[in-house]
Amino acid sequence: MRSKACNPLVRQGYHFFSPASSAALKPCMWTVRALRGGETCYKQRFYGIESHRCVQMTPTLKCNQRCLFCWRSMEHEVTEEEEIDPAAILAGIHRLQKKGLSGHKISPLVTPEKWDEAMRPANIAISLSGEPTCYSRLPELVDMLGDAGFSTFLVSNGTRPHVLSDCRPFQLYVSLDAPDEAVYRKLCRPVEDTWEQVQESLSLLGTRRSAIRITLVAGWNDAAPERYARMIQDSGARYVEVKGYMHVGYSRLRLSRDCMPDHARVAAFAQSIAKYCDYTCIDESPVSRVVCLERRDI
Ligand code: SF4
Repeated sequence: MRSKACNPLVRQGYHFFSPASSAALKPCMWTVRALRGGETCYKQRFYGIESHRCVQMTPTLKCNQRCLFCWRSMEHEVTEEEEIDPAAILAGIHRLQKKGLSGHKISPLVTPEKWDEAMRPANIAISLSGEPTCYSRLPELVDMLGDAGFSTFLVSNGTRPHVLSDCRPFQLYVSLDAPDEAVYRKLCRPVEDTWEQVQESLSLLGTRRSAIRITLVAGWNDAAPERYARMIQDSGARYVEVKGYMHVGYSRLRLSRDCMPDHARVAAFAQSIAKYCDYTCIDESPVSRVVCLERRDI
């Protein structure tokens, strides 16, 4: 049976794939907004991923970092779980996404066409909460989702490069949330010393469709753009997303509202990174406080 720690997550709209594992799905705010004919996520704008057909999920809620800016609750940390079979995740996706969105079906803002499209999800964002590489069968899951016709966005904190090297998602994200190890330790609070592993994960990005995600926390990691630039340049990642920290969820217990940079500050920092490497700002979404850079030689 699932630990009692997960009960508050059920109240927050998490839908679990099985009683014994922490694999979960939760429709994201942008999926709901897009379904109701409103704004879409920046991933639609940057990469053409239709927001109302995107599934946000994770194969595990376990994590080996304690990032101050994380929206998840570390009080509800999962320590023990029975890992779910990848086939059971695949089998549950349509059912759980329908369950998660069902309350919106009766809205006059949701057209029958949009609803039908949303019931045929096309992209799986493996990025809900937790670190997906802590799930031992992640490569198998990613392959299975790809074979079933989904595009997959896999977002990792980069601490387990040996798992990432076996994963073949449509787009691989590695987080880079510090310009050096000292800031990494203070802000991301890794359970083990994993800065070198993050560097190794970055080195996997040059040969794949990939992105580096920087979550900018004002006063914490928004310095030394030249150091970020050096790591980005060395990685060869295709995209870099510089995204402002959002003062939401449990992160409000750890950081103050002032740590949330406005879009102008995020954009200025992205520009200063671009000055030191061969990347150009190609797009931005002020509502999500995110700027997308792309490698110039693409
Ligand atoms: S790595 Fe991701 S899931 Fe883990 S604590 Fe950091 S932000 Fe949260």
